[in-house]
Amino acid sequence: MAIETVNPATGETVETFEPHDSAEVERRIAQAFAAAQTLRDTSYAQRAQWMHATADILEGDVDRAAAMITLEMGKPIAQSRAEVLKCAKNIRFYADNAESFLAPEELADPTAVSASAAGTVWQPLGVVLAVMPWNYPLWQVIRFAAPALMAGNTGLLKHASNVPQSALYLDELFEKGGFPAGSFRTLLIGSREVAAVIEDSRVKAVTLTGSEPAGRSVASTAGQEIKKAVLELGGSDPFIVMPSADLDAASSVAVKARISNNGQSCIAGKRFIVHADVYDAFVDLFVDKMKALTVGDPMDEATDVGPLATESGRADVAELVEDAVAKGAQVLAGGSAPDRPGWFYSPTVLAGLTDDMRVVMEETFGPVASVYKVADREEAVRVANQTTFGLSSAVWSGDENEQDWFVANLDAGAVFLNGMTVSYPELPFGGIKDSGYGRELAAAGIREFCNLKTVWKA
Ligand code: NAP
Repeated sequence: MAIETVNPATGETVETFEPHDSAEVERRIAQAFAAAQTLRDTSYAQRAQWMHATADILEGDVDRAAAMITLEMGKPIAQSRAEVLKCAKNIRFYADNAESFLAPEELADPTAVSASAAGTVWQPLGVVLAVMPWNYPLWQVIRFAAPALMAGNTGLLKHASNVPQSALYLDELFEKGGFPAGSFRTLLIGSREVAAVIEDSRVKAVTLTGSEPAGRSVASTAGQEIKKAVLELGGSDPFIVMPSADLDAASSVAVKARISNNGQSCIAGKRFIVHADVYDAFVDLFVDKMKALTVGDPMDEATDVGPLATESGRADVAELVEDAVAKGAQVLAGGSAPDRPGWFYSPTVLAGLTDDMRVVMEETFGPVASVYKVADREEAVRVANQTTFGLSSAVWSGDENEQDWFVANLDAGAVFLNGMTVSYPELPFGGIKDSGYGRELAAAGIREFCNLKTVWKA
């Protein structure tokens, strides 16, 4: 895949980048390795100071960075600005909390293990490789980088090939904030070069956010090398609506969940599973609101839905819709690409789905919703759990017992009640089943790439 910025709103190639050759890759790995020896000996207070300086830079740069994101992958500009500011928030969160998340612990009764003192300390692993997707070009990377660097690790980034400007922006960011040179380095390489980087003995662990095939490939290399891996993969999140739900609020949030990031969010509600008693009322509201969305230039503040990030991504979405329609699905809204330059796809709602349709089991990475009518909560959970994914989920219900029942029975890394799934620095984030393993964010996220060392003293 060429490493280039192509404006998805027009299809025009803006800038092409030369991949790093093997000598440059070697130089950058060596820099990250050397920086890891320095960084592990710095104090939390020092690292926190550099982190806050990094957050200051991002906040001061919000308009320029947001325009870069929208140019490279097409999300509406207001969402790009929000992404940049969320990155700064996450950086400050780890600056302020890393030391307590990684505080040493002492066993209250060391005599139980025949010791005078015993406990644990957290230590950094060293160089960690991050393989990242284009859908949140800064956020996905910062979600990894802020905890990794605060723990005293250094980072190497292999970013998606269609967001090289974002990759190079991140390459400089932490150094500008004061971190030692080499603490965070971008590798402009293709996906075929990733295995060799994982195999390099100086690289201690890998995290990948992306598709299931990419996850399988990276995890198998990491497995061969016996190196720690975290996988944040795809999802086809259920959004369940029960009779006691506030339907107006649920339908508005359902639209937001489905079209946020032009429908290209891993944790988006993708399958809308609605109790038969409120199915018609909910679907009418949902379809009207999907039809009312403004599709257009993502640089325009009034745009709700911009283009998909890549031409192939749009083709994948169109294929899933065509497959469902050919097998008898009804199109309640959209269902095709508008006639205009760029990789747009109209907000779409599909109903009348049967299990032989690909859209039922696969991830739709675009503004396409599927709606399912279910008789009761048991059927809702059966439909929700029937995909191979298990990233997040949302349930709309006014009944607290029913909420608890769904929390207990949904196969997912998270359940959001009467809301849509959103990630917060304070809450762990990740999935089960084919959505991956490991957690990002919160205390769990910073501990993934640390050695929990047991210390025992006679
Ligand atoms: P992708 O094709 O898997 O790409 C993700 C990253 O992996 C890119 O840097 C890509 O490089 C690299 N890559 C691809 N194949 C690889 C391989 N065989 N070995 C090593 N690296 C490889 O995914 P995407 O299309 O960019 O992103 C969409 C997917 O990511 C969706 O499934 C979405 O749900 C998932 N996602 C998950 C989360 C989460 O937190 N769970 C968050 C966001 C997105 P190239 O660009 O050079 O191919």
